[in-house]
Amino acid sequence: MATQAGTVTDPKTRNAGPVILLGAPGAGKGTQAKFIAERYGIPQISTGDILRDNVARGTELGKKAKAVMEGGGLVSDDLVCAMVADRLKQADCNRGFILDGFPRTVAQAEWLDKHLSSNVSFFENGKPCQIPPVVVSIKVGYNQLLQRLTGRRSCPACGRIYNVYFQPPRVEGICDVDGGKLVTRKDDTEEVISERLKAYERQTLPLADFYRKKGQLQEVHGEGSVEEITSEMLKAIENADRL
Ligand code: AMP
Repeated sequence: MATQAGTVTDPKTRNAGPVILLGAPGAGKGTQAKFIAERYGIPQISTGDILRDNVARGTELGKKAKAVMEGGGLVSDDLVCAMVADRLKQADCNRGFILDGFPRTVAQAEWLDKHLSSNVSFFENGKPCQIPPVVVSIKVGYNQLLQRLTGRRSCPACGRIYNVYFQPPRVEGICDVDGGKLVTRKDDTEEVISERLKAYERQTLPLADFYRKKGQLQEVHGEGSVEEITSEMLKAIENADRL
């Protein structure tokens, strides 16, 4: 944790800057993003969640994205980048934000780089973003990913994520936090999962190299307990030597 003249800075009050989570579907990006967002008091921006919300509300964006999402492919870079640009304008991004599920292609990463260095509306005082992004890649083996995706359930009300194999709720099908009925995501079926993993290998995996070359990549082994992984993630973020 950063110190200044011997005082420890509260993570919730200092600028955290952009945090980017990379990882295959099922690697635990959403779960970890929630903990990190809470620790630093910054928003979790999940492009998957925003897209699902648009599909549920039947917006123009949702109509365009629906079929692609249901097939396990990637929504077009233009649509997703415009959506992220809009989200980053909101005041809660002033001290930083955590991107979960974005970027997912090299074109999106290049767009984000430009956006962070030129469009500065999301940072306090309209000053350019001084803090470079930290990119944390969560690495999980293929078989583990499959079990995580097929066993995943979530609470539509509070967003808490469970897994019927590894992290079941206390009462089957019911959220521990608010008693809501747990749901399975529409794209967590075996057929769509296989398409999503293919899209990941083809389009998202090359991003690790993109960020490694820029010296921004931190890698975390994503197969321990949720707490162990969170602690590795926080170390990676704090050790990135940019705060
Ligand atoms: P996720 O919840 O991150 O697994 O995303 C669910 C689906 O939303 C993906 O399978 C894609 O169809 C779409 N999606 C989410 N984020 C992106 C992105 N950055 N670029 C393109 N499509 C995305």
